[in-house]
Amino acid sequence: MLERLRVEGDQTEADLFISADAGNLWRVKDAGLFQNVTTPALEQNVPAHLRDPDGAFWGFTKRARIIVYRKDAVRPEEVSSMDSLGTPRFRGQIVMRSSSNTYQLSTLAARIEREGAENARAWAAAVRANFARDPQGSDSDQIKAVAAGEAQASVCNHYYYFRMMRSEDAADREVIEKVGFVFPDQAGAGTHVNISGGGVTAHAKRRQRAVQFLEYLVSDDAQTMLAPLNTEFPIRPEIAPAPDLAAAGPFKEENIPLDALGRHQAEAARIFEEVGWS
Ligand code: FE
Repeated sequence: MLERLRVEGDQTEADLFISADAGNLWRVKDAGLFQNVTTPALEQNVPAHLRDPDGAFWGFTKRARIIVYRKDAVRPEEVSSMDSLGTPRFRGQIVMRSSSNTYQLSTLAARIEREGAENARAWAAAVRANFARDPQGSDSDQIKAVAAGEAQASVCNHYYYFRMMRSEDAADREVIEKVGFVFPDQAGAGTHVNISGGGVTAHAKRRQRAVQFLEYLVSDDAQTMLAPLNTEFPIRPEIAPAPDLAAAGPFKEENIPLDALGRHQAEAARIFEEVGWS
């Protein structure tokens, strides 16, 4: 979609660009294909750490990067932080998705912002040293590998776990019976969060309509309507998420400028390559 926007230039019919993950949205911003928008309604409804500081893109739902673990092998307190995945306790017991995935890049980029590149490299190397297999598959595949006993723990976006929990397919629910999850780093920096969001394209022909739609997405109506249907969290903390998400409890979330996920993306990719996390 980014490539299409680039090719279409000022001929585009797209007024809005919507995507998951701030890393993806930042690439559109970096290519000059968003325009900055700031309105009182957007500023009031979207928490500062869940929108681009310049107003290039705005979150309307959020996702958390959680740790999943095999219940019969791991106590939840053993995986209370992302750091724990790199300790000798989990030698040969971690599966992970490929580092080319945006979720992985954003998670490491956030760490670079918080702790610096050296810390991020040390963490990636330590987790890499614990791999049970070469990185492969989707977030859902990591959950399945943990359930199947290929490893004891992994990381995924929370909605993959909840989708399997809600699944009509008994096999999915059997997987979830074997796998627990934690919101990591509750005693520290908070769990890494990311957004689904959007922004107004640089060449929007219906700019005002596009802004109104962004405002609508974070309005009482849309947030309340989305919450029970969506496996993500509403962007507004005062709007209750779906009951099963609400039951997982409120959690402390990481608080960094959202554009950092984009700014440190190239460095995150470099670090993953250096430590051999393919
Ligand atoms: Fe996803």
